[in-house]
Amino acid sequence: MRHLKEKLILFLVFAAIFSPARSGELLSLRGFCISAPKPAELDAFIRFIDQELAPRKVNTLILRVDYNYEYESHPELRDEKALTKTDVKKLVAACRKDSIRLIPQINLLGHQSWAGSIGNLLKVYPQFDETPHVKMLEKYEWPNADGLYCKSYCPLHPEVHKVVFELVDEICDVFEADAFHAGMDEVFYIGDDKCPRCKGSDKADLFAAEVNRIRNHLELENRRLWIWGDRLIDGKTTGIGMWEASMNNTHRAIDRIAKDVMICDWHYERPDQTAVYFAMKGFQVVTCPWRDPEVAVGQVDDMLRFRRAATPEMKDRFRGIVQTVWTGVDDFLKEFYNKESSDKNTSSNCFRAAFAKIAND
Ligand SMILES: [Zn+2]
Repeated sequence: MRHLKEKLILFLVFAAIFSPARSGELLSLRGFCISAPKPAELDAFIRFIDQELAPRKVNTLILRVDYNYEYESHPELRDEKALTKTDVKKLVAACRKDSIRLIPQINLLGHQSWAGSIGNLLKVYPQFDETPHVKMLEKYEWPNADGLYCKSYCPLHPEVHKVVFELVDEICDVFEADAFHAGMDEVFYIGDDKCPRCKGSDKADLFAAEVNRIRNHLELENRRLWIWGDRLIDGKTTGIGMWEASMNNTHRAIDRIAKDVMICDWHYERPDQTAVYFAMKGFQVVTCPWRDPEVAVGQVDDMLRFRRAATPEMKDRFRGIVQTVWTGVDDFLKEFYNKESSDKNTSSNCFRAAFAKIAND
């Protein structure tokens, strides 16, 4: 019996050593993106990092912080209940322990309002609004007469960058981050005809100039810029449309921005294969699923296939997968640990499916 056991162990050791390059194909970037926890959610979220992200070999955590931090450079922009420096250091320590790279996000350019409420930047500095003539709706609905999805700041306002770069520097410092995610998705208001600074400008030029400006600022501290990819895809020609791609002529910016900007290419309805487009243009790219497990598994398959089929020049530009979650931490954790739910298409199920697929390939 003992002999048999020894044989079995030997067999398992050899099988592990000589199994066909499984570990070699583990995608190098395995990410998760969610709102930064509110102070009351912090401990539960740190447990989630330890018990769920680390065992699944997640190595990158993007936290959408925005104004959920007690900024010292701009206390006027803090959310009412915001993370303290001590809170953030707990996140930093938890991620460091599990070898997870932590990347903070503040939405720059677009997403300066959400539904019926204006974000802190434009609330405090209304002069930065690209479209001050567009009034917030008391009862928000989409579509609406002004095409108001989210407000943008004016990228040519002479004072906006001083404020936002102070926030960016502070949040990167406290998170000890070597990369920063600036959002920049779904920018519908750009180069508005009524903006005295931007009217008549090429929207692709405006978008590219803003990306490069943020990128150059980050480079001063050897930090790298990450953005969502949708504004760089031609929504009309591809048929991908106005959300996951651009219908307002920003897509030509793809040839005008620095190639070291990391592209987070999100597609939620279909596994659109635009990662290839970004890689061919010279960008590193991650594909981002949301809540459809079948789409996510397809996206993991695609990413692995792109890597196998790529030229040596392109292979490492196909970096991996980032699961995106668009609820707050509390709601997400309830969903994640609710075994009773029969809802198939949730970001929890999507996350479990995508990371099971990554681990088993
Ligand atoms: Zn403007």
